[in-house]
Amino acid sequence: MRTGVLLPVRGIRRFVYAPAATPTKEIPMRAIDCDCGKHMEAETDEALVPIVTQHMKDTHPEVLELPVEQQQKMFAERVHDV
Ligand SMILES: [Zn+2]
Repeated sequence: MRTGVLLPVRGIRRFVYAPAATPTKEIPMRAIDCDCGKHMEAETDEALVPIVTQHMKDTHPEVLELPVEQQQKMFAERVHDV
C-alpha cells in the first residue's frame, strides 16, 4: 500500500506521491532572539534583516544610532538556525 501525500505538480496535470516522512520544513529558518525577549525569524538572513530593523525602530531606536558595522556584527553574532 502506498503512503504519502498527493502533491500537485506545477504545469503537469497529474499528481505525484511525496513520502509522508518528508518534513515540510527542510530548510532551516534563520532567527534572532533580541535582548528584550523578542523572537524573530525568517527564511533567510536577507529576509530577517528588515524584520529586525523594524523591531529596532519600534523598540530599540538607539541601536540604529550605532555604526552600521557594529549593527551588522551584532546581527551576525546573534543570528542562528532554527
Ligand atoms: Zn528587542
